[in-house]
Amino acid sequence: MRLQEMATIGATPNGGCNRQALSELDGEARDLFVRWAKEAGCTIAVDQVGNIFARRQGADPGAEPVMTGSHLDTQVTGGKFDGVYGVLAGLEVLETLNDAKVATRRSLEVAVWTNEEGCRFAPAMLGSGVVAGTYDLEFAYSRQDKDGLTFGDELRRIGYLGELAAEPRKCAAIFEAHIEQGPILDREGTTIGVVEGIQGAYWFDVTLTGASAHAGPTPMHMRRDPWRALIGIVEGTFALADAGVPWARATFGDVKAIPGARNTVPEKLVLSIDIRHPDPEELEVMVSDLRRLIAESATVHQIDAQVEQIWHMPPTVFDPFLVSEIAESAASLGLSAREIISGAGHDSLHTAKFAPTAMIFVPCAEGVSHNESEAASPEDLAAGANVLLHAMLAVANDKKEER
Ligand SMILES: [Zn+2]
Repeated sequence: MRLQEMATIGATPNGGCNRQALSELDGEARDLFVRWAKEAGCTIAVDQVGNIFARRQGADPGAEPVMTGSHLDTQVTGGKFDGVYGVLAGLEVLETLNDAKVATRRSLEVAVWTNEEGCRFAPAMLGSGVVAGTYDLEFAYSRQDKDGLTFGDELRRIGYLGELAAEPRKCAAIFEAHIEQGPILDREGTTIGVVEGIQGAYWFDVTLTGASAHAGPTPMHMRRDPWRALIGIVEGTFALADAGVPWARATFGDVKAIPGARNTVPEKLVLSIDIRHPDPEELEVMVSDLRRLIAESATVHQIDAQVEQIWHMPPTVFDPFLVSEIAESAASLGLSAREIISGAGHDSLHTAKFAPTAMIFVPCAEGVSHNESEAASPEDLAAGANVLLHAMLAVANDKKEER
């Protein structure tokens, strides 16, 4: 199986992959993909950030193509499926059509996006981000890894600095198949996740300042202990997230007490809050409720509260027509399916900015990902590729109403 062959490039002792973006090994994986795509009769184009587009010509070469794809780079201790599955499922679609001698009206393309993982060159999803216009080319080229090597030099070194302009591509549809990277499908025993969008997120750093005091002599009622305020904030925030089932998320990932001594009431607590929701309006409501909660809890306990926004990623809402196309394809194949939201970022987050986009999820064992033990069953992987085939065909031949 191709996934296994690709996984030999950068294979780790514990059964995973270490194939970081623009490394020698990434170059080898790209070469292998290009070889397979050419064997399947595709023409290859490489753009200025190294994104590869393998094209199977349609009957109407002027029509906007239907694209699919994902990424071949991995985390340092990554798995065999994250990204690679979406690329090879795309290749599988083209070969299935070749074998069946099926022509499509629109051309079909399989994309390999550069540097999705972001573990060697930050930020993640850089190749698709440049194409979407989120980042400019010079920014991408100047990114450095921890050894000071630049993205631009490394891209040239592995031979994937292409000439095609890295700009939004006109596509009738872009589909991305991917392992879920979460536990929902696996727990439920559902085969296909019909992905409706990608969660939006806010990151905040919150500093709660009270008064430091001796743990022994200071009576409880004479303290200004920032923990008192934090308890109200944590309880209230979890209540907000619980009220937003199934998709709202709230995480307190880090709390530091300053000065941090066991016999001193801390003067300050510095904590991180991560808030997520797939619905743009609901996300904003959560954030304003959170801000109100922090202010109220601080006031009650005479604590000063500073809230600093560190990062914001707006939710991505996928194209409803393509989402329904995926659901119909799964149903017509008799596969169990459910609507789902992606908790992780994907190249689709950027492609959705310039073309109708949607994703197909398949289960991964225990929801484990970004881990060498990442696993998925051959049956589920095949089912996902089959749904991809049907969804791509429907759009490529404009079976349904004209978009
Ligand atoms: Zn991925």
